[in-house]
Amino acid sequence: MLLEYALIMKFTQPAAAREINRLRVLNLLLEVKEYSRAEIARHLKLNKPSTSEIVEQLIKDGLVAEAGKRETAAGRRPVAITLIPDAAFVLGVDMGSRNTSIALADLEGNILRFERFPTTAQPEVKELCSSVIRIIRKMSKLATSPILGVVVALDGVLSDDKRTLIRNEHWDWNDIPLAAIIERNTELPTLLAHNVEAMVFAERRIAHEEEENFFFVNWGEHIKSALVSKNSITGGDTQFGHLVVSPTGLCRCGKIGCLESQAAGWALSERHGGKTVKQLCLEPNLMIEDDLRQAAQAMGMALVAASAITGCNKIILGGGLANLGQEYLSYLKDYYKEHSNREKIQIECSELGEKQTLLGSIALALDWWMFKSSLLEVIQGQGK
Ligand SMILES: [Zn+2]
Repeated sequence: MLLEYALIMKFTQPAAAREINRLRVLNLLLEVKEYSRAEIARHLKLNKPSTSEIVEQLIKDGLVAEAGKRETAAGRRPVAITLIPDAAFVLGVDMGSRNTSIALADLEGNILRFERFPTTAQPEVKELCSSVIRIIRKMSKLATSPILGVVVALDGVLSDDKRTLIRNEHWDWNDIPLAAIIERNTELPTLLAHNVEAMVFAERRIAHEEEENFFFVNWGEHIKSALVSKNSITGGDTQFGHLVVSPTGLCRCGKIGCLESQAAGWALSERHGGKTVKQLCLEPNLMIEDDLRQAAQAMGMALVAASAITGCNKIILGGGLANLGQEYLSYLKDYYKEHSNREKIQIECSELGEKQTLLGSIALALDWWMFKSSLLEVIQGQGK
């Protein structure tokens, strides 16, 4: 999709050049918070008249404002330009297997409203969608500026146009035009994102992960992975959670010994009276501790294989179980070091915590409907 867009823009020069520079100014202001016109021009290597023209248009559009004069080292006092965070909003939705979360966020990605409700084990399309739509409508009424769009992050295989959920292995949902359903009922542009892709996006944009090639694992209720390289994320239909790591343990997929049967949130919860992993960590007994260590070891074993096959430069763990605690994590890392020939590869836990998918869906929505920084990266990559 991004490439197509880049190509279309290429054909419509010089309007494209203006639009690209407008986006570069917006992205710069998002990053630096405030800059004078001269600083913007210098930083982006634009001439002063076109910088002023872009800034005037952005002021007219209500996206940026003059924030008063600033003192510089030279004693001059140029006018600072800043982004207006609440000039527009986006909505992010994380349809997770345990909870569904919805947030209204401003242009800086700050969450202004947040709601969460439990997702049932086998949700009906109609039931789950109408709960989501009801909350979106409620949040839209509260929004004081336009909402640009909604991104719904969920597990499953998505259509190329990011509008239809083709299948979801846990819910038995097939060919559901989810984006169209939400658009029809909220009048807001809607796109879907794979939850691991949303997490990876958050890792890059919010946690500022600079490594370009890494293996990312969403270690939560289920286990999913993505191989991330410069401009691509391969995730969607991979089956990392069903890598065989044990001779025993019935998996929900029907096979024996999958990683999920040893280390997924659902498996641990099933073995310990339905308690969530968070609860298990809070009230450990010898049996729970032993089981969590085994889960960490199973993950370590799968990571040895993943690292060997992908040749990734780094491994990042996200999701609820990535926060099991330092003790289990060290256990995992020790196992990895002992068994991998690529023992120097770093294993890290994401700092973004349990809202990572939601933050990712917000960041994707901002990128698709306002900042288009992924597109800029593609275009600038072509220019190199
Ligand atoms: Zn399995």
